[in-house]
Amino acid sequence: MVKLTALGAAREVGRSSFLLDAGEKILLDRGIKLGSDEIGYPLPVKTNLDAIVISHAHLDHSGALPELFSKSDSFVYMTLPTLELSQILWADSLKIAKAEGVTAPFSLADLASAERFTFSLPYRKKISISESTSIELFDAGHILGSAMVKVESQKKDVVYSGDFKLGETRMFKGADKKIGKADILIIESTYGDRNHSPRKELEKEFVDGVKETLSKGGFAMVPAFAVGRSQELIDILVEHKVSAPIFFDGMGQKAARKTLEFPELLKNPKSLGKALHSANWIKKGKRNIALKEPSIIVTSAGMLEGGPIMWYLKKLYKDKKSKIFLTGFQVEGTNGRKLMEEGIVDLDDERIKVENQVQQFDFSAHASQDELIELAKIVEPELIVCVHGDEKVIKVFQKRLKNEGFNSVAPKLGEEIKLD
Ligand SMILES: [Zn+2]
Ligand SMILES: [Zn+2]
Repeated sequence: MVKLTALGAAREVGRSSFLLDAGEKILLDRGIKLGSDEIGYPLPVKTNLDAIVISHAHLDHSGALPELFSKSDSFVYMTLPTLELSQILWADSLKIAKAEGVTAPFSLADLASAERFTFSLPYRKKISISESTSIELFDAGHILGSAMVKVESQKKDVVYSGDFKLGETRMFKGADKKIGKADILIIESTYGDRNHSPRKELEKEFVDGVKETLSKGGFAMVPAFAVGRSQELIDILVEHKVSAPIFFDGMGQKAARKTLEFPELLKNPKSLGKALHSANWIKKGKRNIALKEPSIIVTSAGMLEGGPIMWYLKKLYKDKKSKIFLTGFQVEGTNGRKLMEEGIVDLDDERIKVENQVQQFDFSAHASQDELIELAKIVEPELIVCVHGDEKVIKVFQKRLKNEGFNSVAPKLGEEIKLD
């Protein structure tokens, strides 16, 4: 029998972590949840682990690994870019904790030991962790280094999708469709209830919006995820020859340098390299330069939970000519979601009414409903475990799965699923 326990990302987006017991005990992801006042952690791991696998660097999949590492010493498997991007994000969360005067649940020493125990695996290289159990990573097409995880054991074979995107995006070629069959598919469900609008149309709508804001004399504030999205948006803006300076601020700069170090994983490294080099990278303490004349400011954090965007917002939130372009999924409870739904943001312990225009663009690096079904058809599992989605969304997704002839469950937090 194989057992799977949802330690997080159960009917919610955030703190992904799943304990798979297939003889060997394998932890799939160890993320945190941002958005509420306190960082949300997955449920504790109460057993000795044989392996930990991290699907990709986003903090909702990797952010709690250093904390776990302060107590555990299992081997960790992830791709090299995932390790290097995670290190950037982990170090940044330590910096934020220090600046906010809170004690981080891990130290720099824990970061170093996490690295010492990490095997960086290339895609499609099966590695045995025991006589009967192996782990293999497949490109997930979501961000640099993102992986779908396949665990093969004597009992059952399991695919964990992590966050994935089957179709091509501007930066990546899409997930590896040669992942093969498995008995159980643990699948993200972020957009389980809908399909995305065509990418080219979306890009045009975004660029037109930016141009319109600039022509009115406003600033285009583009909060974007540091890893992936901010680089992609700059590439779009440069390609469309928007005639205003593009400023690039925040942790996305580090992620951009890391991204260009892995050209073999990018769809079009030349055009991305050119675009990123032509943006104006803001130096520390020099933010005022971006506010001299109407400009585009691409910066973190993508859900307005901290980062340089808060500095720009403080300067500009009363300016009716300026506009905020939300460019990714906004988790419930985050400033980004509050801004979308109520036009308010919590800034420096104060709730402010934002007078800028706000528009959301569905630049998703996640699978649409049709792509989720396509992966299910590739893997042909006996059971699909729906995770990483809001409760309402998962309900819609499960209905579609049923119509397509698949068995599915959506575990609650802490629930254990057994499969004979
Ligand atoms: Zn992700
Ligand atoms: Zn995620």
